Order: sequence, then structure tokens, then C-alpha cells
Amino acid sequence: IERTLAMIKPDGLSGNYTEKIKEAILESGFDIIEEAVVQLDVERASLFYAEHADRSFFNSLVKYMTSGPVCAMILESPDAISCWRNLIGPTDARKAKTSHPDSIRAMCGLDSEKNCVHGSDSPQSAAREISFFFGDDKSE
Ligand code: ATP
Repeated sequence: IERTLAMIKPDGLSGNYTEKIKEAILESGFDIIEEAVVQLDVERASLFYAEHADRSFFNSLVKYMTSGPVCAMILESPDAISCWRNLIGPTDARKAKTSHPDSIRAMCGLDSEKNCVHGSDSPQSAAREISFFFGDDKSE
């Protein structure tokens, strides 16, 4: 059994995709262990995406991620990290619509930035990101 950090980004909440995304999560066999709706400020959003600080899109990414509340969730299942990454689909939602039409980003995302959802990409990032939102004791 494994845990991962899922996040519905501001465009997901403002576009009223939260219930649809949660249905897909539960239908896919994940348990939602914790959930919290949080407004990130510039400092917290920059910290969450610190690995992208040198990228050309960083300022735009931080602006997007602070444009409204996000919904952070701890998901648990066997292989939660890779299963959730598969369910959300590729980063660019436009590509997702052709290559992974059943993915969440295909259903709810717009482009390579406004892609509606996030998922941890490794056990290390899952532990870091779960701690970021829910504290150190929740990562396993
Ligand atoms: P996430 O980490 O949010 O699950 P990801 O692992 O698919 O997404 P990353 O490459 O880690 O993608 O990028 C983090 C986020 O930065 C993306 O989800 C997207 O919102 C934004 N982003 C990535 N690439 C671009 C780009 N070329 N232009 C604008 N925004 C981008």
C-alpha cells in the first residue's frame, strides 16, 4: 500500500470539477485519507514548485497556483503514485485530449500550464508534498 499527494489546482475548483474528479478517484480504487482546501500564497506556491524556480514559466505558474484555492488530498492504494499519474494523464492537457482521452487532464485541463490536477512523481516527492500540506506524520 502506498500514499501519494493529489491536488486539484485553482482551475479545477473554479471550473467545478471537484466532484467529478473525486468520483474518478474513488472509482479507481483510491481511498482519500485526508483532504484540505487551501489558498496558497506566493511564498508557499514558490516553495511547492521550488524545483522549477529557474524555468521560464515559473512566475506564470506561481500566479496560476495562487489565483484561487486548491484542494490537496492524500490518496492511498497499491501503487498509488504511478496509478494516480496514469489517471491524470500527460502534463499538456491539449496532448492528453488526443493521447489519453479518458484522463482527468483531458476532461478538465486546458493546456500545458492550466492542467487542473497535480500528482507526486516519486516516493520522495510524495513524502515531501504530503508533509507540505498535512505534516510529517501522514506520509506513511
Ligand atoms: P505536476 O508536477 O503539477 O503534477 P507535471 O509533473 O506533469 O505536473 P511538471 O513538469 O512537474 O509537470 O510541471 C509542473 C507544472 O508546471 C505543470 O503541471 C504545469 O502546471 C506547469 N508547467 C509545466 N510545463 C509548463 C510549460 N511549458 N508552460 C507553462 N506551464 C508549465
